[in-house]
Amino acid sequence: MNKEKAFLGLGSNMGNKEGNIKKALEMLKDESGIDIERVAPFYRAAPVGYTEQDWFLNTVAQIQTTLKPANLLAQILGIEDFLGRKRQIRWGPRVVDLDILIYGTHVIREQGLEVPHPRMLERAFVMVPLADLAPDLLLPGGKTAEEIAEELKGLQEIKRN
Ligand code: ATP
Ligand code: CA
Ligand code: CA
Repeated sequence: MNKEKAFLGLGSNMGNKEGNIKKALEMLKDESGIDIERVAPFYRAAPVGYTEQDWFLNTVAQIQTTLKPANLLAQILGIEDFLGRKRQIRWGPRVVDLDILIYGTHVIREQGLEVPHPRMLERAFVMVPLADLAPDLLLPGGKTAEEIAEELKGLQEIKRN
């Protein structure tokens, strides 16, 4: 079966943040059709968008998957649900958030699934761990992950955990 390299963003800002991300990684590992290849260091980041909430712990995982994008999305939403994710405030507090950042070289613009993730280029908490794993990855707009991460580091608060 065809395998694709993909990058997933993981974040948590409720309860045991590190434990929540590790549980999500364990559950991803247990999915047939998903192999976790590498996980970036964990970073602490100030909330963006809705700022009246606790700081976030974030990382990025590099996977190999035989799942089609829609099936991969269904699996990660299932993991969020299982770990107790409730959707209330947009960009509000969450036990765990799993986003598909990149799926091979595919560009998907559907309602309910947009890849590359349309807001990733503005977010230090995504781009810094992504650049740890794949500094030379070429992103929409023509810059590398490393170049974008370096720009964002100066603008947004982010620290190695
Ligand atoms: P953001 O997308 O800005 O990071 P968020 O992660 O808080 O915000 P959610 O409430 O987790 O948003 O997700 C809302 C919906 O976004 C999901 O139900 C899913 O259908 C959709 N979605 C679209 N593209 C993606 C993607 N690349 N990865 C994950 N979900 C996506
Ligand atoms: Ca998100
Ligand atoms: Ca999400």
